[in-house]
Amino acid sequence: MSAAPANEPTFRQSVDLMFNRAVALVNLSPGLEEKIRVCNATYTVRFGVRLRGGIQTFTGYRSVHSEHMEPVKGGIRFAPSVNQDEVEALAALMTYKCALVEAPFGGSKGGLCIDPRDYDDHELELITRRFAYELIKRDLINPSQNVPAPDMGTGEREMAWIADQYARMNTTDINARACVTGKPLNAGGIAGRVEATGRGVEYALREFFRHPEDVAAAGLSGTLDGKRVIVQGLGNVGYHAAKFLSEEDGAIITGIIERDGALFDPAGLDVDKVRDWMVTNGGLTGYPDAGHTADGGAVMEAECDILIPAALEGVINLTNAHNIRAPLILEAANGPITAGADDILRARGKVIIPDLFANAGGVTVSYFEWVKNLSHIRFGRMQRRQEEARHELVVGELERLDLAMGDTWNLDPRFKEKYLRGAGELELVRSGLDDTMRTAYQSMREVWHGREDVTDLRTAAFIVAIDRVASSYRAKGL
Ligand code: NAD
Repeated sequence: MSAAPANEPTFRQSVDLMFNRAVALVNLSPGLEEKIRVCNATYTVRFGVRLRGGIQTFTGYRSVHSEHMEPVKGGIRFAPSVNQDEVEALAALMTYKCALVEAPFGGSKGGLCIDPRDYDDHELELITRRFAYELIKRDLINPSQNVPAPDMGTGEREMAWIADQYARMNTTDINARACVTGKPLNAGGIAGRVEATGRGVEYALREFFRHPEDVAAAGLSGTLDGKRVIVQGLGNVGYHAAKFLSEEDGAIITGIIERDGALFDPAGLDVDKVRDWMVTNGGLTGYPDAGHTADGGAVMEAECDILIPAALEGVINLTNAHNIRAPLILEAANGPITAGADDILRARGKVIIPDLFANAGGVTVSYFEWVKNLSHIRFGRMQRRQEEARHELVVGELERLDLAMGDTWNLDPRFKEKYLRGAGELELVRSGLDDTMRTAYQSMREVWHGREDVTDLRTAAFIVAIDRVASSYRAKGL
């Protein structure tokens, strides 16, 4: 669905150009370099579904970029302009993303050419189940070989249908639920998966702002508090990122761009109110509490501190890269900046937090869900009460000492309440995600600041990822 003009490289070529820039700085044999770059296989399926008194044919893809680790992992996208090039680009990004955040997967991606808004729930279920059937029977959905997740146009509901379809076709597979992630909690999902990618965006920015040197490289200073943020796409990723940044970090969401234009308010938009309006009215048009413009492109170019494209690829391209004013751009979508635009933005001194890191929260929590499914137990179930009991011992002893010393000091009741609460699944998931985002940022940062020939975070991210994928291939004897 690239929004880039036709005279630019395709999405897949764009990813390859970025890969090539980085791999030139890594000491690999040309054969291994080529092995890592190429997409291993792409399966195309055309299948018919009986709908509305006739048969409709749909086209879907599942691409496997690299199997240096299995299962391979990557979302399934439902959008009218899904095509082979796009699915292969997204699968390649998954390979590098998983390596960067140390999720033990190869890279894959799937897509179905469909506008989900054209179908009712029952029809979508029939179509999703049929697509899943085609992939399952070729092991392109399988807990140990290929594990999809949600992406644009899909969510928990579609993942539940896919999981159920797999279970119907593999009645004795005890690990059936691990065939797909992003499921609802009551169908084998994990707490915190829906918010995970947006939450990861928040953790990524928090880590960035912990390093004053990096913040200064973007011409900014201070913390996230008070920073003006423009978000494109108020779907799963964009909504959660905007919500958390405004509610928890003091950022001001000054602009929201959607399919039908944009809202802009220098004083800050109420993210939940905008989202509610959008869900009820199908777009931003008519929103009563902020100015609306049909020209979303103009708001992309508006002044702000952080621009977060969270909708689709190719939206910052040769036509607008010269006009982007944000000094810091965080790629919450996959591939929102084309290779050509990336060159221009870097030359203009912009700092770009790249997609393979910035939106890795989704696959990170998917990894936790897959582990949960394979271990057949909720995280925290064994430790939570034991942890609480140990904390109670400490608090009890402190209170005894307090009494013995004549009531000279008291434990703050809020401290007590917080300290006594053992970690449940959601707290553990957030802690694991935070740790992953911090560690991955630091590994990129070491390369960014540690090598003279690396001047941007994207190249640094690719170098870290390529090194790790290469080590896996070498360990296999390639
Ligand atoms: P989504 O379908 O929930 O939301 C996409 C939003 O973008 C929708 O609100 C849609 O109306 C809007 N949009 C579509 N076209 C637009 C346009 N031309 N201009 C402005 N807005 C437009 O999808 P999502 O899951 O939030 O995914 C968004 C991006 O994040 C994609 O690039 C996806 O690959 C990436 N991503 C998603 C996840 C995940 O966990 N869902 C994980 C990693 C990366």
